[in-house]
Formats: sequence, C-alpha cells, structure tokens
Amino acid sequence: MTHIVNHWIGGKTAEGATGTYGQVTDPATGAVTTKVAFASVDEVDAAVAAAREAYVTWGQSSLAQRTSILFKFRALLDAHRDEIAELITAEHGKVHSDALGEVARGLEIVDLACGISVQLKGELSTQVATRVDVSSIRQPLGVVAGITPFNFPAMVPLWMFPIAIACGNTFVLKPSEKDPSAAVKLGELLAEAGLPDGVFNVVHGDKVAVDRLLEHPDVKAVSFVGSTPIARYIHTTASANGKRVQALGGAKNHMLVLPDADLDAAADAAVSAAYGSAGERCMAISAVVAVGAVGDALVEKIRERAEKIKIGPGTDPASEMGPLITKAHRDKVASYVEGAAAEGCEVVLDGTGYTVDGHEDGHWIGISLLDRVPTTAKAYQDEIFGPVLCVLRAETYEEGVALINASPFGNGTAIFTRDGGAARRFQLEIEAGMVGVNVPIPVPVGYHSFGGWKDSLFGDHHIYGNDGTHFYTRGKVVTTRWPDPADAPAGVDLGFPRNH
Ligand code: NAD
Repeated sequence: MTHIVNHWIGGKTAEGATGTYGQVTDPATGAVTTKVAFASVDEVDAAVAAAREAYVTWGQSSLAQRTSILFKFRALLDAHRDEIAELITAEHGKVHSDALGEVARGLEIVDLACGISVQLKGELSTQVATRVDVSSIRQPLGVVAGITPFNFPAMVPLWMFPIAIACGNTFVLKPSEKDPSAAVKLGELLAEAGLPDGVFNVVHGDKVAVDRLLEHPDVKAVSFVGSTPIARYIHTTASANGKRVQALGGAKNHMLVLPDADLDAAADAAVSAAYGSAGERCMAISAVVAVGAVGDALVEKIRERAEKIKIGPGTDPASEMGPLITKAHRDKVASYVEGAAAEGCEVVLDGTGYTVDGHEDGHWIGISLLDRVPTTAKAYQDEIFGPVLCVLRAETYEEGVALINASPFGNGTAIFTRDGGAARRFQLEIEAGMVGVNVPIPVPVGYHSFGGWKDSLFGDHHIYGNDGTHFYTRGKVVTTRWPDPADAPAGVDLGFPRNH
C-alpha cells in the first residue's frame, strides 16, 4: 500500500479531507512511493486558525520559555540527522552525505534562534528631554507563512520557522509537494521538544493552498523560496494583500576565473559547485567565466574531474551525484544540452544518454560541460537547475564583470584569483547578494543573512541573520515621562512637542 503524507495541524496529523493527492516519486527508481494530501481552502483555513489560536499564548510567552524549547528541538534535530537525511534522499534523490550537509546548515539557523534574545534586545535612550526616556522594542507579527522549494526540503524551512517562532510568531509551512516528508518530521520533533500545539503547522498542496495563504487576512507575512516566476507572483500577490513579503527566486551563478588563479583549485571548486546535488542548488555555479588565456587549460581540468564523478542512487555510499527530481525535469535539462551545439556551444561532455543499470526508470542524467557558450544560448540565459556547466570566455576582468552584471539574476557569484586588489574590486563592483572570494558556494553562516539581488529576490529582507529577526518582528518606540512631584504642571500647549 502506498504511504500517505498528511498535514500537520494543531500539533497532530490531519488527514487530507478532499481526496486530492499528489504523487511523490523515488527519483532513483521512478516508482511512486508516497501520496501527499493536497489541502483545500478550508484545510488551509484550519491551519491558520490553529496558528492564530496558538499565537494568543505563544506571542505572550517569555523569551526564556521559547528558547528553552528551541534548545530541546536542536538536540532532537541533531539526534535525527540521519533519519531526516534518509527521508530527503528517498524523495529528492540527493546523496545521503549531501542530505546530511543540508540538515547541518539548517541546524545553524536553529543555533541562531536559540540565541535570539541577543538580537531581540531593545534599545533605551535615557533623558532625551527632561525626565523623558525612549525605548525601541520589536514585537512579533502574529501568524506567518513559509512556502518552500523541493531542492532543500529540510534546510529552507529551517531558514524560516526557527527565527519566526523564536520571535514569538506562529507558523504555517507549505513545503514542496515533491518531497513533503521532511517537513512533517520537523513538526513531530518540534512537538517532542514541547512546542505548544498550533505554533508550527504544515499544509501540503499546490497553488490552491499557496493562494489561500497569500490572501488569508490572518497571515501577516509570507516567506517564499523557489523559482523566479513564482517568487515574483508571490511578492506581487501577497504585497497587494497587505502582507510583508520576502520572496527568494532562481539564479544563474557565475564564477570568474582570473589568469593568476590556482587553476587546480578553481577546477575542483567549479566541478563541486556545478555538479553537487546534480546542479539542483540555487547557489550552484552554472557559468564559469574564464578570463584571458586560462580558458583551454581550465576546461580541460574541469573535464578530467567531471568525468570521474560517480552517479548512482543516493542511498549508495559510493554515489557522488544522484538523479534529478522528476522525469519531466530530467527531460527539460537534457533539452538544453541537445540544443546546445546548434546555438553555437562546444559540447565537451554530453550527459544526456546516461542511465544506471538496474534503475533504468530513474530520472538519470550524466554530466554535461559546454564551452565557448554564447550569451544568446538558452543554456546560458535560463536557470537549467541540472548538472550542466557553461564556460564563457572573456578577454579582461572588466569584460567578465560586465558579462556577469548583465545577467538578470544576482544570487551568488565567485571570483578565483591570487590578486587581493582584484578580489576587493570584484566585491564592490559585482551585482549579486552573495560573493565568494576563492569560495564557490558562498552560502552565509546563520548570523549573516542570505539573499540575492535583482530577479533572485523580491522584497527588502534577506533571509535569516539580522534580516530574519527584522522580517519577523515589527518595531515599536515608547516615549515615557515620569514627572517629578515637585514639577510645576506643564499646562496646555498646542505647539508641536519639542524636546528640551
Ligand atoms: P517552484 O517555484 O516551482 O516551487 C516553490 C514553491 O512554490 C513550492 O512549494 C510549490 O508548490 C509552489 N508553487 C509552484 N508553482 C506555484 C504557482 N503557480 N502558484 C503558487 N505556488 C506555486 O520551485 P521549485 O522547483 O520547487 O524549486 C527550485 C527553484 O527554487 C529554483 O529556481 C531555485 O533556484 C530556487 N531556489 C532558490 C533559493 C534561493 O535562496 N534564492 C533556494 C532554493 C531554491
């Protein structure tokens, strides 16, 4: 019998009431392993109602109470790393070690949430006028929602809800319908940690569930991570409905390799960052820009390394790269490689024919490497989200930077060089939210915020770090006077209040 993943509402499992289900596939075999309940408007309303009821108490709870639960949750998450990684591998397909890495990076945000008291510390100015003090405090918003993508089914929800609930909000998560199990496991662990019912809820589903969250009057803020077209839609729709929104979108991350770079280190980095998780990372390097004469040698070093990557089921410890999420996505990724030569690219490696013995129905694709890619090629212009690396050539540093800055995306970017002056210039001149200097995937640590520029983020706030705390709270400034009994009465004064 097919396993069913249900919603998590009010601290317990809630069976889907509509009879509408999505199918979850094991990408390594192509077999449907799980059905996932799709929420109706009424079911989303039930989750928001549970969150709203829980907020009455949670929003008033002390920092000490909230963080003590988060410390317990952190310990449970740590103890269940393997189990969560197994759920991710079974539904997403990424290899177990990579899934463990995702859980580890999610844990960093729980660490931050455990210490949220430092970030929520207010400000006080005394005696701003005679016997007048002013304090600034930040308070929770109420019910907030998160809508997350398939490629990090544990980490991306963990970017959001630990901070949100640490700040005193209650949360409704709509995870990807393609790999929903990790989100429910996180709900179970939160309950085991002692989180009151209704503070964290999960509804599964598609556009019906998302649209209801975007319009629900009790949802005060929406955090979204996913593709650019949907991020733009979420930002526009939720903003029009009066909500605070942060919507992180897709990417085309470039790595600029200067002629003085350590080419072996650059090739190692390019291969790791392009093909890790089969390229299904928003911070994957998908375009290398080789400056000056290094192009041929760099492409050769990348090819040598890429050919050795072991592709197979994520459950096999020997596998370094797993399959793609769906058959449809696999075919779309292949289409970019199939059309590359006609668009003027040199196809150095073509992974489209790859399959794994005994797993012929899995969503397999091998490694593809395209050289001398023109900026007009679809393989360059689109976010492919698969194991396809484009190499472009630039004569100079300036030409390379101009090329990168012309991209509509601005998530992450990296420079490989031994020249500190060039690296410093790059940091200041490049139009992207996250920059790596000899670091190919510059995902910031939890206490620095994560976010892109341009079509990679809609909204003013990056996610987690100080921006996360700011996003999930609103400011209040209190001006206080305690007159001395000896003071003469101030009397009526219709003039605008001045400080003296
Ligand atoms: P997606 O945009 O298809 O889906 C993301 C979420 O939106 C899912 O929960 C999905 O159910 C929902 N959704 C999909 N279509 C919708 C619609 N028409 N209306 C309302 N909701 C809808 O993204 P995905 O394929 O799951 O994830 C991959 C994408 O996410 C890539 O583009 C990747 O770059 C991006 N991503 C970005 C970041 C980042 O931090 N910038 C991180 C991870 C992934």
